[in-house]
Amino acid sequence: MNEKIITVTAPVLPPLEELIPLLEDIWKRKWLTNNGHYHQALEKELSTYLNVPYISLVANGTLALILALKALRLTGEVITTPYSFVATAHSLVWNNLTPVFVDVDPVTLNLDPSKIEAAVTPRTSAVLAVHVYGTTCDTVGINSVAESHGLKVIYDAAHSFAVEEDGESILNHGDMSILSFHATKPYSTIEGGAVVSRSPEMKDDIDRLKNFGISNEVNVIVPGMNAKLNELQAAYGLVCLKHFDRAKSVRKHIAEYYRKHLGAVVGISYLKEVVGVKSNYSYFPIFVDKARYGHSRDELYGRLKEQRIFGRRYFYPLISDFPPYRDLPSADRTKLPIAATAADQVICLPLHGELDEDDAKRIVELVQWKGEK
Ligand SMILES: *Cc1c(COP(=O)(O)O)cnc(C)c1O
Repeated sequence: MNEKIITVTAPVLPPLEELIPLLEDIWKRKWLTNNGHYHQALEKELSTYLNVPYISLVANGTLALILALKALRLTGEVITTPYSFVATAHSLVWNNLTPVFVDVDPVTLNLDPSKIEAAVTPRTSAVLAVHVYGTTCDTVGINSVAESHGLKVIYDAAHSFAVEEDGESILNHGDMSILSFHATKPYSTIEGGAVVSRSPEMKDDIDRLKNFGISNEVNVIVPGMNAKLNELQAAYGLVCLKHFDRAKSVRKHIAEYYRKHLGAVVGISYLKEVVGVKSNYSYFPIFVDKARYGHSRDELYGRLKEQRIFGRRYFYPLISDFPPYRDLPSADRTKLPIAATAADQVICLPLHGELDEDDAKRIVELVQWKGEK
């Protein structure tokens, strides 16, 4: 048996020798947090790299979501997707908002605008959509429903660092977008995240909210919280940014290998590549149709695990299946058939900057499951 352990993602640690001079400089400056030199430098670099004018660094992606919703001063119900990481819905509850789950589109697995439209009530104040796996939402359709009902739109772009559509950052849609820089995400500050806003006033709002609501030395104007990113993590992020493109090209190669070799496997499908979208290649979900494949999703998951290949069932169960949400009227699985099927069929295959073609070949051969149906 091959002894190598292969996980679904692996953090790309920046070379220590590149990080150490920055840490030495922080030690000299003795400025550790509160909008320090490296925090400002990283906001500037990210603003340029991602092509977004207004970006606020925060301590993690969940706080980015909570603060973005807070800044938009929402009330009542917010329409969202059940097919995401739990933090998406949790951020609504932390703002006293009621999540209303609607089903996703079968091609993108992102919110379906026509189903959003059908779920709007007089209490609806916003749509919280997710570009799941970095696959872009139907932003035109979502925008049109939102405009006709006066709803705000927030995009959870935790998977969409540096994703572009028709030459434009995917982060420049809706009222705000958020990013996660957790160690498992393609770009990392260990823990961290950001809110991308659309005007200098909105950025100021977020910057105040993440710093206790302090407006100046003698005044506090909103009940903010503490969601600041510190200097050590900002320095880590600056070095990581230099290595993002290289790691992405490794992931691209692996993703293309999977696409090429899994296309002919009966009962296994994967998401389509969309013309005009520049992907970040951070996830490679496959969907196992047991009737055609001959084995269940969990049988394949177990087969990979036996060989120390740890895929992940992102996103199973659905958020709406978890105890805090399952009693909501909108959580009924029969009303979410596309999301429910995806959750029951999905395995994310390993995809990260430390895989090589031999790893991908082994994984493909296991998925092909030749001669044992
Ligand atoms: C990772 C993730 C988050 C939360 O980000 P953290 O930085 O871990 O708090 C939110 N939404 C989605 C879709 C995620 O994958």
